[in-house]
Amino acid sequence: MKSHFLSAPRIAFQSQFNNHATMKNNKPSQPKKKSARMKVNASDNDSPGKKRPRRERNPPKALTLGQESEAPDIEDFSFTREEVSGVRASLLEWYDLNGRDLPWRTRGSEGNTGNAQEDKDEEEDRRAYGVWVSEVMLQQTRVQTVIDYYNRWMLKWPSLHHLASASLEEVNEMWAGLGYYRRARFLLEGAQMIVAGGEGFPRTVGALRKIPGIGDYTAGAIASIAFNEVVPVVDGNVVRVLARLKAISANPKDSATVKSFWKLAAQLVDPDRPGDFNQSLMELGATACTPLNPSCFSCPISIQCQALSISRKDESVTVTDYPSKGVKTKQREEFSAVCVVQILRGEDAFASDSSESGYLLVKRPDEGLLAGLWEFPSVMLKDEADSDARREAIDHFLEQSFGLNSTICIPITREDVGDFVHIFSHIRLRIFVELLVLRLKDETSFFRKHGKKTLTWKYVDSEALSSLGLTSGVRKVYAAVEKFKKNSLPKCSQPRRRSRLKQ
Ligand code: SF4
Repeated sequence: MKSHFLSAPRIAFQSQFNNHATMKNNKPSQPKKKSARMKVNASDNDSPGKKRPRRERNPPKALTLGQESEAPDIEDFSFTREEVSGVRASLLEWYDLNGRDLPWRTRGSEGNTGNAQEDKDEEEDRRAYGVWVSEVMLQQTRVQTVIDYYNRWMLKWPSLHHLASASLEEVNEMWAGLGYYRRARFLLEGAQMIVAGGEGFPRTVGALRKIPGIGDYTAGAIASIAFNEVVPVVDGNVVRVLARLKAISANPKDSATVKSFWKLAAQLVDPDRPGDFNQSLMELGATACTPLNPSCFSCPISIQCQALSISRKDESVTVTDYPSKGVKTKQREEFSAVCVVQILRGEDAFASDSSESGYLLVKRPDEGLLAGLWEFPSVMLKDEADSDARREAIDHFLEQSFGLNSTICIPITREDVGDFVHIFSHIRLRIFVELLVLRLKDETSFFRKHGKKTLTWKYVDSEALSSLGLTSGVRKVYAAVEKFKKNSLPKCSQPRRRSRLKQ
């Protein structure tokens, strides 16, 4: 085993965290799911999505793209006039009775400027801001989780102008735990851009699309819900409902198919209540026409639903066959070593639970993954390196960034804590965590000298660390270290003034 310049005695222990992570990651793979093509019991129409024994493997008849002769091309799908009016009326009626009471759907109180047009504009802007924030939060996150974040956000930044004057750090802290932090940054930058433009909230899809981070979906949602523009929205829920309504089994991720869904949604959108109609379509997908167990029995548009109609005639087909399940892209495997550096300070500096201790945090670069967010010192690894190689990489980073080496600090404890896998949308990141507890030989000089020239860093105590808005990955690392200290450090928290260091 190599020795490192920040070597401290290793504690003989079995990391429960590591065991847990290993067990989790080595769990036997689940049996593969069977195809969604199952029989439907004609007498069980209230749950046609239920799986039954597979009978045959053919795709739904005459409905799969690329099939011969009678299979319609995706371009050919459209609604008849009767279908359009039937779907609009039924969905709006259903939505008026069943729409969920969500905070971003509440309408404002009466205006108070005394000018009806000004009051209307103000209310629309307020609504647009609320829809924008909620729609961005709802991307990749469940409604129940978003409600709390949304309420806290609105309390802190009740209007676009309040948000525009916030700092990125504040916004990131508020966003902590929602993931995909680029969304938060775009919200802030968008708010700043709109306020700087001085022309109020953009009111059409065309104008909204010029704001960073606002794509077709969010623009359609804001324009239709807040400003009554007659434009469609298409998200995953809408795709599912439309695919079932028209029995389209094409890959919904394919760009030609996506375009066609937008065309179909545009055909349906109600000219008098575009915002409510769009919300009703999304609401149906979220609450009734769900991926696995659609409630067809109580569905307001079951009469128009072609997937349901086919499933009733052909017991080898279920409505959940629509849309087809696209092939998932394989996630990239990456590895990183994280070192939680705890600096003990003050009189009681050798006690590992010293209330005067604190941690080093480093700010990530302003571009790329988790841009501008705080984390413990870390390095990316080429592959699943062993403990010595990881320490070598970390030592190099700590010396380059902070000048931390044996001439300026005394390591008290250095231990491997464990590892876990953190999932990003396209990356499986295996994170190896170690704890390095040290004491500085000359605190004043360290904190003064390392003037944050090459990277931005800060020293925070554990109380501040707990209240900081950290990403879920960083919180997992901290939780693992805390657990490790609780379970393992009592055995080894004796003073280690005589630790041997490599000079
Ligand atoms: S649209 Fe209605 S009837 Fe059709 S699959 Fe969805 S829930 Fe069932």
